[in-house]
Amino acid sequence: MRVELLAVGTELLLGDIVNTNAAWLGTRLAEAGLDVHTSAVVGDNLERIASAVRDALGRVDTLVITGGLGPTQDDLTREALAEAAGVGLRRDPTLEAALRARFTALRRDVPEMNYRQADLPEGATPLANERGTAPGIRLAIGAGVVYALPGVPHEMEAMFTGMVLPDLLQRAGEPATIVSRTLRTSGMWESAVADALAALVRELDRAGNPTIAFLAGRGQTRVRITAKAPDRAAALALVEPVEAAARRALGEAVYGADSDSLEQVVHHLLRGRGATVAVAESLTGGLLGAALTDTAGSSETFRGGVIAYATELKTNLLEVPAELLAARGPVDAGVAAAMASGVRQALAATYGLATTGVAGPDEHGGAPPGTVHIALIGPDGAEQRSLRLPGDRSRVRELSVVAALDLLRRHLARTPPPE
Ligand code: ATP
Repeated sequence: MRVELLAVGTELLLGDIVNTNAAWLGTRLAEAGLDVHTSAVVGDNLERIASAVRDALGRVDTLVITGGLGPTQDDLTREALAEAAGVGLRRDPTLEAALRARFTALRRDVPEMNYRQADLPEGATPLANERGTAPGIRLAIGAGVVYALPGVPHEMEAMFTGMVLPDLLQRAGEPATIVSRTLRTSGMWESAVADALAALVRELDRAGNPTIAFLAGRGQTRVRITAKAPDRAAALALVEPVEAAARRALGEAVYGADSDSLEQVVHHLLRGRGATVAVAESLTGGLLGAALTDTAGSSETFRGGVIAYATELKTNLLEVPAELLAARGPVDAGVAAAMASGVRQALAATYGLATTGVAGPDEHGGAPPGTVHIALIGPDGAEQRSLRLPGDRSRVRELSVVAALDLLRRHLARTPPPE
């Protein structure tokens, strides 16, 4: 099976929005082992959409379209499909009744134009939209099949996963269930993760199912294991031994799976031992505190923070010895440790966590941009990390936050809670 993608929307052409639907669909189709040959964007123009559909079906047997299914005059995907197929549009009475019921339930006075969403090219099958009003469309044209999905990403994603992908797999003669497990790692570069898993990847490449993919972003690396099988239990049985092998190879770099976040895991570990944390931030300027308050219920474990950006505040608020600052400057491992200790004391927290460093672009006191010191202190000891982080100012700050959370997370996971 050969697939093309077509995103409809003038706002995509103008750069007002980014075509994230294509990225998402590309990832899902690759996971499913289906080849995407071309991905195109076309504006809200009837003739050009119809011609893009005809061209695509001249090359491949499957076209997935997103966008242009809404109720307004510039939503033209329905008309273009009818035109490309050489058929008329007809109003589907079941869809019309469903729309009417939905609008009535919302007590909305709905203009007649909205019922355009119940129009289908003749011969098409509607795809139910559980998250919005515009149904999708499945239409066979010649030997090919076109799937038209809404542009709104979460509507499109649900429809693709629930209805389009199973249909594609069936048409391709592939097993119908795909199961993915994503392991989340922190404190390990993507290349190191790939190195640790190289033997496993080679082994999987030979068999082709499950597959493994690395996804790096926000200073963390995700490892996605995907298996195809006739049913969910069989797919899980393929994923599980690979997951266990990957966990063994990556060790404590793995902090969670699937939708876990590093912040949640830290919160969870602190809560499990009835502990709290306070932060002293210099180069991260509040980002670490913001990350720690991202999780609902964080007030149980997060005491607060001090942003001691100016050097003298490190002494005035955190009792970092003035002599230490004078001798070493603010970008120093000992200063980070003293900040962590100072904030732990001042805010009466179980753990103190501190960041100091040079975000860039200029060096500071002889230290190049990306020089970062993180320190942690608690009842079960102190730990410290000195790093040279890559990237521009915002990336250095973002990576520093992840490094600080990772230091705390590993410490908590490694150190048994007090009796
Ligand atoms: P609806 O019926 O819900 O309006 P639609 O099928 O008409 O959906 P569009 O009007 O084309 O979809 O787009 C609706 C919104 O969905 C856009 O304003 C944009 O925010 C988002 N969107 C559309 N296409 C894409 C895309 N390719 N990538 C990311 N977002 C998109």
